[in-house]
Amino acid sequence: MSENPLIVPLEILRGHSSSKGQAVVSSEFTTRDRLSSWGLIVPTNCLLCDAAPETRNHLLTDCAYSTEVWANFFAHSDFTLPSSIDQIVLWCKDTTGNEKVNSICMLLVQAIVYFLWRERNARLHSLSAKSASTLIKEIQLLLRAKLFGLDRARLTSANLNPSPLQNSYLHTWFQFFQP
Ligand SMILES: [Zn+2]
Repeated sequence: MSENPLIVPLEILRGHSSSKGQAVVSSEFTTRDRLSSWGLIVPTNCLLCDAAPETRNHLLTDCAYSTEVWANFFAHSDFTLPSSIDQIVLWCKDTTGNEKVNSICMLLVQAIVYFLWRERNARLHSLSAKSASTLIKEIQLLLRAKLFGLDRARLTSANLNPSPLQNSYLHTWFQFFQP
């Protein structure tokens, strides 16, 4: 499986339409509540906090661990992050009317979901456990590298005048997501 977290989550988050025509997050997460519903005897507590049953919504947004990660990136006063992952996916496409902010939001949501799911699986298969603050630092590094690449590609893709610094993805990142 590709380890590129900006590709894998696209599959995890693959949108499909509900009966109301709304995009919803794929339910491919086989969380422990689903395993239990199939009759499998498994511990049912969340692997991130061990304080509540593991459901998809708990793991991705309601968990104290996940909440700490989301809150770190969406603390800017322009953001009012919805409470469920399905709503977040819809919301992040049109958060502020700023095209760059929206693009970064979409990348960031994918990265957060991927890192939370990967951390959950790491805890399931081994004894290693990263703190939320470590996870946040890893996501910051990944997004900054990705955005640096996007800025560089824009500069070299055409003989356009270089965009002003304040128009770059990285500048937008530090303005809104990592002030
Ligand atoms: Zn939890």
